[in-house]
Amino acid sequence: MKKIAILGSTGSIGTQTVDILPSIDAEVVALTTNRRIDLLEQQARALRPKMVCACEEQAARDLKVKLADTDTKVLSGMDGLTACAAESGADIVVTAVVGMVGLLPTLAAIDAGKDIALANKETLVCAGGLVMRAARDKGVKILPVDSEHSAIFQCAQAAHGNPLAKIILTASGGPFFGKTAAEMRHVTREQALAHPNWSMGAKITIDSATMMNKGLELIEAMWLYDMAPEDIEIVIHRESIVHSAVEFADGAMIAQLGLPDMRLPIQYALTYPARVPCKVPRLNLAEAAKLTFYAPDYEAFPALNLARQAAAQKGDRGAVLNGANEAAVGLFLDGKIAFGEIAERVARALDTIPYRREVTLDDVLAADAAARAAARA
Ligand code: NAD
Ligand code: MG
Repeated sequence: MKKIAILGSTGSIGTQTVDILPSIDAEVVALTTNRRIDLLEQQARALRPKMVCACEEQAARDLKVKLADTDTKVLSGMDGLTACAAESGADIVVTAVVGMVGLLPTLAAIDAGKDIALANKETLVCAGGLVMRAARDKGVKILPVDSEHSAIFQCAQAAHGNPLAKIILTASGGPFFGKTAAEMRHVTREQALAHPNWSMGAKITIDSATMMNKGLELIEAMWLYDMAPEDIEIVIHRESIVHSAVEFADGAMIAQLGLPDMRLPIQYALTYPARVPCKVPRLNLAEAAKLTFYAPDYEAFPALNLARQAAAQKGDRGAVLNGANEAAVGLFLDGKIAFGEIAERVARALDTIPYRREVTLDDVLAADAAARAAARA
């Protein structure tokens, strides 16, 4: 039986992970939330983990009272999150927290020899070089949960040692597909949160609307598959049925298809290399009938170019891009800036923060802090 820790178990990916647990042979040893303690209590009573963490201190105190009659240990803060990742006895850690707060616990889990089922893409965007090197050194697997990267991972199994010539990363295009930058500038929070195909946490939903999500995924794919960013093509696919594809030297393109439902990639990351029945509804190709593809509009969605630029430069640029984006998305969600300003603030951070090519973990954390400050200024 596999022992699983779920970081961010109360979020969109976290709850879907809990949902597929009955399909797999697993024991949950740790669960975490930021402050949704009612749901965490419910999960803890059902799954009886060894430890749980509420990152907010007051939430942790309240959770401790709620779980006083159980054997579950209640932790708090970044130390608690890191302990759940590295000291809960897990074989595999699902990183489903949102944002670069996932970086330190992910590194701690890798250091402790745990495999990672990686949903938290911000970790690789900020510190992909450090994370992949640590995983190689420790011999741990980074198994992608992001649907595109899971698709690439599945398609790449056709490689048999041959290099990938190209990755084709599909994108739904989000709620503002077909609009110009001027038309999008003052869209509301509600319009930006209305994703056509996927129901996800607020931050990634805004990232999908700006298409920064696809930019972050480009950087995620670059690190996961050791690909040059220019060999990663982005294509708009409104139906979200083709989850991504790879191309080989001879031009053969292999794609992975399915209905848009994160539970399949989550489950595959946890059962790999085995495949077991999944509760996700099956794709019927005749019902899908028509699949459409378009080139992305780099002018309307400047976030894509910013991410391409950061991917090409590497060094600390991923941390700057991500930190500025997290701060700017937060400002937009709080009603403080216009939608169109998100990418502008990320661009400003990339322009004003001096570039560093070789980075340590401290450099990444410093670049993140500087980027947040620049985006908020
Ligand atoms: P979400 O907002 O629904 O959930 C986030 C989880 O992290 C919650 O459990 C929350 O309590 C916890 N959390 C939030 N802030 C925290 C903090 N400061 N400290 C500790 N814990 C904190 O987000 P989500 O949509 O589930 O996304 C999680 C990650 O998975 C993101 O990195 C996202 O990009 C990635 N992802 C999500 C989807 C999806 O379908 N939702 C798809 C692909 C990738
Ligand atoms: Mg994705």
